[in-house]
Amino acid sequence: MPASLRPASSSTSSGTLRPSTSSTCERRSTLRVGIIGGGLGGLTLGQILHTAHNVEATVYERSVDSIDRLFGYRVMISSFVLKKLRPLLRKNVWEKVVASVGVQPESGQELAFMKSDGQRMFTYDAEEVRDTYSISRWAMRKALLHDSDGFVRFGKTFKKYENMPDGTVKVYFVDGTTAGCDMLIGADGISSKVRKQLVPEARVTEPGLAVIYFKIPLTRATKELLPADSGAMAFCPSNQNIIFHSWMNPRKLFATVYDEFDIGTDESFIMFGYGSPCSEFFNKTKPPSKLSSEELKSEVVARARSDPNMSPNIVALAEQCIVNTAYLQIVQECQAIRKWSSPSNNVTLIGDAVFNIATMLGKGANCAMLDATDLASTLILPRMLYPSMRRPELRSLTQDNIRRRLRERHRNNLIQNLVYFGDGNRLKEYGRDKGLKMALGWIDDPRAKDFYSARH
Ligand SMILES: Cc1cc2nc3c(=O)[nH]c(=O)nc-3n(C[C@H](O)[C@H](O)[C@H](O)COP(=O)(O)OP(=O)(O)OC[C@H]3O[C@@H](n4cnc5c(N)ncnc54)[C@H](O)[C@@H]3O)c2cc1C
Repeated sequence: MPASLRPASSSTSSGTLRPSTSSTCERRSTLRVGIIGGGLGGLTLGQILHTAHNVEATVYERSVDSIDRLFGYRVMISSFVLKKLRPLLRKNVWEKVVASVGVQPESGQELAFMKSDGQRMFTYDAEEVRDTYSISRWAMRKALLHDSDGFVRFGKTFKKYENMPDGTVKVYFVDGTTAGCDMLIGADGISSKVRKQLVPEARVTEPGLAVIYFKIPLTRATKELLPADSGAMAFCPSNQNIIFHSWMNPRKLFATVYDEFDIGTDESFIMFGYGSPCSEFFNKTKPPSKLSSEELKSEVVARARSDPNMSPNIVALAEQCIVNTAYLQIVQECQAIRKWSSPSNNVTLIGDAVFNIATMLGKGANCAMLDATDLASTLILPRMLYPSMRRPELRSLTQDNIRRRLRERHRNNLIQNLVYFGDGNRLKEYGRDKGLKMALGWIDDPRAKDFYSARH
């Protein structure tokens, strides 16, 4: 962890963001912000706003205890985003965020592309990749939930909102309760209900791709089997691919607490993801989304064993997938929206709720957290208390948000389309390998550094 990312020495944040107090006098002049969704975007926004004098933020999250299995995995976050977060979070929250960062390879991260026999084709090691950190989602979520009793409410599933004549918003939950706020933020992910009401025409589609994820314990033995020290993608027959990435706990480098079915949340792990068109699933007895964890494990082992050229190391890794960590991602794409507005400028969106970004280059959570830091910096402005003065601020935020997201969507879709171009046809596979290398050169665009580089 570079010195610049170590915990700040002050317990308060910079500018007008300060620890919240609860005097009645301040309450009368506070902006009440309701945030729907306690994912990475919503919790980041809630944590930052919690430190502001003039804002009273509440995060409403539908889950109670059980959270999506995706939270068991790792997420790649750029140092640019981490540096933006650092001065905005309370010191003890930031310390926990830092603790969620895995051991960084000496020369930074990279993504190696190879054939299924392990033969290296090329490596993508642009600065934006080198400069990202592998973070335990579990630990990051715990960090963002630290000391959050005052502003996070669980078990609250958003149903709809209503614009009130006085310019406020009334929020309805499925449990029959309601809440009032001055600004409503939809941070409820790709299937956002807030977006459905705000921009009803936006559709979510499925391009027919699925990735089966498993965790494998990171031990001295499994580390030896890995095809690369950092991220790697191996191309397999029938338009399939396997992605590998690790999270190494700096306080306990190798996993010890695991068995065939489960692994402790703090244990170092390898993320193993088997991607393919849904039509290429071996098990066709039911749709992929209905397969049990055991069936998903059998699927990845059967696929790995069926390729005569598959590296024995990769087969050995597939065999060590931990059953109960199975997470099936059916790839979805929300139509890109170009704008949104609400009558009293009191409803907006952040994160995947705007529209999502394919996972190829790992940008969705980075964008969600940037959306949160940008929106927080605007919501604390005293003029945001006046509905008529919100429009220009929100419009400019929305435009920046959409521009960043569109750009990442184009880059990630290009890579995703090429990764799944193989189609089992040798000529197409040749085109994929050449095209992918060229495309990675094109997208390594200096303008990307506006968003992600450590140099800013
Ligand atoms: C396998 C995989 C790997 C990825 N890897 C990376 C990566 O390395 N780097 C990266 O930047 N991005 C990555 N992403 C993308 C990233 O995970 C998402 O873009 C990011 O989580 C979006 O954050 P969010 O807060 O907008 O939404 P989410 O994380 O989806 O959170 C939405 C929250 O809203 C809650 N919610 C939903 N509906 C309601 C409701 N009606 N009422 C109340 N609450 C509700 C949900 O329970 C959830 O907690 C990856 C995605 C996947 C699937």
